[in-house]
Amino acid sequence: MQKKKSNNNNRISNFQKQDVNHKHKQNMTKVNNGVFIYMDVLSVSELAKQLGLNPSDIIKYLFMEKKIMVNINSQLDDDTIGEICLNYGYDFKKEKVVAKERFEEIEIHDDPKDLVERPPVVVIMGHVDHGKTTLIDTIRDSHVAEGEAGLITQQIGAYQKDIGGKKITFLDTPGHEAFTAMRARGASVTDIALIVVAADDGVMPQTKEALDHAKASGVEIIVCINKIDKPTANIEKVKNELANEGIIPEEWDPQNGYIFKEISAKQKIGIDELLETILEVSDAMELKANPKRLGLGTVIEASLDKNEGPKATILVQNGTVNVSDHMVIGTSYCKVRRMVNEYKKSLKSAGPSTPVVVTGIDEVPVAGDRFMVFQDEKTAREVAAKRKLEKRNEELRPSSTLSLDEIFAQQKESEQKHINVVLRADLQGSVEALKSSLEKLSVEGIKVNIIRAASGAISENDILLAATSHAIVYGFNVRPDALVRQKALEEHVEIRLHTIIYALTEEIEKAMKGMLSPIEQEVILGNAEVRQLFKASKVGTIAGCMVTNGYLKRACDIRLIRDGIVIYTGKLASLRRGKDDVAKVNQGFECGLTIENFNDIKENDIIEAYEIQQVERK
Ligand code: GDP
Repeated sequence: MQKKKSNNNNRISNFQKQDVNHKHKQNMTKVNNGVFIYMDVLSVSELAKQLGLNPSDIIKYLFMEKKIMVNINSQLDDDTIGEICLNYGYDFKKEKVVAKERFEEIEIHDDPKDLVERPPVVVIMGHVDHGKTTLIDTIRDSHVAEGEAGLITQQIGAYQKDIGGKKITFLDTPGHEAFTAMRARGASVTDIALIVVAADDGVMPQTKEALDHAKASGVEIIVCINKIDKPTANIEKVKNELANEGIIPEEWDPQNGYIFKEISAKQKIGIDELLETILEVSDAMELKANPKRLGLGTVIEASLDKNEGPKATILVQNGTVNVSDHMVIGTSYCKVRRMVNEYKKSLKSAGPSTPVVVTGIDEVPVAGDRFMVFQDEKTAREVAAKRKLEKRNEELRPSSTLSLDEIFAQQKESEQKHINVVLRADLQGSVEALKSSLEKLSVEGIKVNIIRAASGAISENDILLAATSHAIVYGFNVRPDALVRQKALEEHVEIRLHTIIYALTEEIEKAMKGMLSPIEQEVILGNAEVRQLFKASKVGTIAGCMVTNGYLKRACDIRLIRDGIVIYTGKLASLRRGKDDVAKVNQGFECGLTIENFNDIKENDIIEAYEIQQVERK
């Protein structure tokens, strides 16, 4: 039977110029616009060939100018390659070698002739109740453009609008939780952020946060002053407040100012102008991508469908994804079975900036996961398997961070302190919200380190992970079953359950505060009975003792008890067995000891050794 030919044959692999095949490693090089790009050490002859020189030119140059003797087979280091390139009029760049399974790290270089314009990806952020959802809905249902399929029929986490033949992709999860969560995972998917500020309310805490996130991620910012239809709207006040945050309106500072748009999301005022502005901004940004490359991008949303199995809304950021493509999403393998858009229309292919729902994935991925199409099934499966293994090893790797208890003991030595948390919640939305609030917590240098956050029931695997990394398991609107509880008991893992986000974060915060001021607690180390006394002129009274329980240790705190009464509290000055100083004497052994600044020891006195230990506040 003839094998079906892969439809990827004519497309550019994302590893084409960076591929490292371990069996026959190739040092890929190329000269691009006068820039010599290479990846590994090169010999004189290899470099000469690439630069179109004679090897003897290089040998002569190095000898005459640099006093370096080489032969045709000598391997050149980076500095030398750089100098040779510059001498012969080339810029140079060494590219990182990236293994396939680390596909997030590859730098994509597209030939400028393959690049085409792509739609901007827009996110809407701002304070609660300022009208984000209303704006998203208004834009989504706004005047249906020609060529658009009609009203959007399903929410997939993102949608595209066609504005006179040009498209804009909107992420339709309002707020910055999702945006932050994705950014925290290293994914940057948006080009433009619309910051919604209600004209009757002005700059509020989440407005500032949204601005911080947008600025930090380097996206273009468009300010939307919303609710201008309200009688209480005060646009000038909002502008002043924003200016105080460093967001000066363009009209005040044409050079460095920001674009401000006055709108009413509810009354649909200024929406068309806003859309026009978004297109102008994106034109200026010259957003481009190469549809000829194998698709790559980021997961926007994912879930488990009763009928179709795992499915994910992916945003194609570069290249094209086709039905039947073999790709890796996060740690899962996927042969794209079906792709549908927000109009429930099946697509055969999806190009740059297109959000689509894909099915055919072997597990539910997580928002923020990256995906990449590979040339063939074998490679995609191998990469997915490697990534799965790596993730598992990562999770199981005993962490150097500390459990609640250990934090005290090691607090002084440790520079960085964490509370490790495994988080489970009923919905992906709650997971993201909890994650980002927990990650914000910081009490005098102690931070929450979330080692796993997922939706669904607490599993035995979660308990194992928590056990290996000294983490606490937090469940939000989920309850562990009997098996999981049993496992937690066996592994000494603490499970804490909550149904209110605020209560959960407050509890962790309290724990963190408690840890910083631990309670000091006395712990009795042991007792010794004074059996015999020796006087020594230099050291005073030496008590010959028998340790009757526990142990005594050098320089420990002691109490001298006589007939049940504490006579003296102090420290051991010396502790000996025979003639030797010792660190510790255990139960059942004799020893000689002296007490700092105290000589009035009597036979039959009891020496009680104790220590102050710090324990967490409960
Ligand atoms: P979000 O929390 O930022 O998503 O805010 P919503 O979109 O849910 O809006 C909060 C409230 O403000 C709702 O009652 C909306 O109807 C109302 N609202 C949103 N936009 C406008 C507007 O332009 N004008 C007026 N008058 N009300 C608005």
